[in-house]
Amino acid sequence: MSSTVLVINSGSSSIKYQLIEPDEGTVVASGLVERIGEGSGHLRHTYRGKDTTLAEPVPDHGAGLRRVLELFAEVGPDLASAGIVAVGHRVVQGGARYSGPVLVDEKVLADIEELIPLGPLHNPANLRGIEVARELLPDVPHVAVFDTAFFSELPDSAATYALDREVATRYRVRRYGAHGTSHQYVSRTAAEVVGRPLAELRQIVLHLGNGASASAVVGGRAVDTSMGMTPLEGLVMGTRTGDIDPAVIFHLHRNAGMGVDEIDDLFNRRSGLKGLAGHNDVREIHRLVAEGDAAARLALDVYSHRLRKYIGAYAAVMGGLDVLTFTAGIGENDDIVRSEALAGLEFLGIELDPERNAGRVKEPKVVSTDSSAVTVLVVPTREEQEIAQQTLSLL
Ligand code: ADP
Repeated sequence: MSSTVLVINSGSSSIKYQLIEPDEGTVVASGLVERIGEGSGHLRHTYRGKDTTLAEPVPDHGAGLRRVLELFAEVGPDLASAGIVAVGHRVVQGGARYSGPVLVDEKVLADIEELIPLGPLHNPANLRGIEVARELLPDVPHVAVFDTAFFSELPDSAATYALDREVATRYRVRRYGAHGTSHQYVSRTAAEVVGRPLAELRQIVLHLGNGASASAVVGGRAVDTSMGMTPLEGLVMGTRTGDIDPAVIFHLHRNAGMGVDEIDDLFNRRSGLKGLAGHNDVREIHRLVAEGDAAARLALDVYSHRLRKYIGAYAAVMGGLDVLTFTAGIGENDDIVRSEALAGLEFLGIELDPERNAGRVKEPKVVSTDSSAVTVLVVPTREEQEIAQQTLSLL
């Protein structure tokens, strides 16, 4: 039996997990706990193609993870005989401090807690997940893998906001990025797919899920990314604005009487595709577009326009472009978004092949024409597999 790593992604009201054999990337078992602390919890555990589901209250993360471990014992696989060697935890905000995975100890826990002001929506839940997992699985090492690590060495010119230096330094205001595990995995895999050394490629990765981010990667190192101090900056997302004039905040505060928390909620949860067209799921937007809904049409146009702007900007930042890769829920499944985002970019050497681009993509695939100077790919992201591999690499 080869070694396995339990990968845990702990959110504010959910825990997602996968038991992975990192060498092969095989998912042995997976599942999730949802609606933690909400009175009506839901659990799903998948093993050998069979789903076991439970509907019961899950008062807190500790109770949720305890139930998950019971499911491993009852339904399988037994964690000890499955060869578990470590637990890998996704942590969103690692600040400028963590440039790679680390073994969790009291210092690391204190750092994750200390970084909560910079990752208020994610770090508290990530921290809670690590704490309960360490209590319940005390015999294996726990490793934190940070979403920001891949971007921790962004050039200063890309990481720095043009803000008063003293204020920025004191409050650690700079661009940290997010989704780094995905951008790292996808850019490395893209080089394998095109069969060229990572070191010689200028790449753009478009991670388009509910959250969405773009990165510019030269020789395997990130040189720019669209998410900023928090995941709010950049592309249009399911429910987030992405780039917006900061003066909109002052305007809403002064003239609409909105408080900071209300504006935070508006920008993070009630904007993006949802704010523009009423739905954060792009499939619903396409359905509305087909019915002639003007708001849905505009939402897609704004989405694609923003993507094109970032592609052009990153090609300029890198002085050219060799490979452009789509990934995550929308990037992998939505051929309409892929083609609308790249429309009119032939001048950059980007030529999408309509037949290759058609439909959903489950394995890495070239979707550009043979004559396209830029190779356009779809590479399904494997964040959990990457977390498992980075976890194992540390042991
Ligand atoms: P996250 O991990 O950020 O929650 P995902 O990467 O799972 O997001 O992407 C979720 C999004 O992917 C959904 O909001 C939906 O718009 C899109 N999506 C999922 N499946 C499809 C599909 N078959 N066709 C088009 N879009 C899809």
